[in-house]
Amino acid sequence: MIEARQLVRRYGEFAAVDGVSFSISPGEVVGLLGHNGAGKTTIMKMLTGYIEPSSGEVLVDGIDVQSEPLAVQAKMGYLPESLPIYPELTVADYLAHTAQLRGLDPQATVPDALDSTQLADKAFERIDTLSRGYKQRLGVAQAILHKPKFLILDEPSNGLDPNQIQHMRALIRNLAQQATVILSTHIMQEVSAVCDRALIVRGGKLVVDERLSDLQRSTQAHLRTNEDAAVDAILRGLASVQETTSLGDGAWSIELQGEGTNAISAIAAALVGADVPIYSLAPESRDLEAIFTEANQAEEVIDAA
Ligand code: ATP
Repeated sequence: MIEARQLVRRYGEFAAVDGVSFSISPGEVVGLLGHNGAGKTTIMKMLTGYIEPSSGEVLVDGIDVQSEPLAVQAKMGYLPESLPIYPELTVADYLAHTAQLRGLDPQATVPDALDSTQLADKAFERIDTLSRGYKQRLGVAQAILHKPKFLILDEPSNGLDPNQIQHMRALIRNLAQQATVILSTHIMQEVSAVCDRALIVRGGKLVVDERLSDLQRSTQAHLRTNEDAAVDAILRGLASVQETTSLGDGAWSIELQGEGTNAISAIAAALVGADVPIYSLAPESRDLEAIFTEANQAEEVIDAA
């Protein structure tokens, strides 16, 4: 469990992070989202104990990061925004060196890290000959050498091409089976591809903390049926339907009342009962980019509890 309590980080008068609180349960995969300069990296550095908060605290499995950073770092893997990598070393030598710095046996740890990140066939290549995607995987490999319980990944897909992004997402999904993962990005699709919860920061403040399924839920549904079906008359009496609007050619937009899946079942039952064919019926899923844009404009801020 990771708990951030009223985190503040100031640089002079400027608050880069301003009263951020959240708690992350074991096994969750959480996306930390925000525009450039929103405060994502600063939050991650405080979670991992690389910088100290000006006020507030971080507890990892109940251990205070500020008072016991080494105990916390033993449980954490961290891919920083820019990783200091020695370009003249081979992949295997770099990982062996990192393992030794962590007090680990390279022979017992490096092969697994290479396997998990699918870097085994690059093990003896010099780092400066690797593509950016492979360098990012190496960054992840060094973060998982000690099989950490928590993985903090700062913009893991930054600068990757679409194919490398797919590889990185598959890798993260895989690692998430064994670890609690927090990753930062400014791309909402990245979060939807791998995360089950989104934290959105704006100007150092937390403005959204929600599960993706809740964020995307909408009160609209779409129906496609026969052009001449009397949809309006059939659905009018249903408690789960607020309003129906014909879009023409048998397409309808339905404003729902209450929870989406129950409402959809009731609508389907009513239509089938009236012998109306259903070509398609589904709740609308809210557009993620629109949610991100809205969150960045809204007045609302989640108060540090
Ligand atoms: P990006 O997506 O560009 O990486 P971010 O959300 O990670 O952005 P941070 O790097 O956390 O943002 O920076 C938050 C704010 O704090 C920015 O305005 C940044 O300029 C400022 N900041 C970060 N580090 C320092 C520092 N050492 N001294 C002064 N200001 C800093």
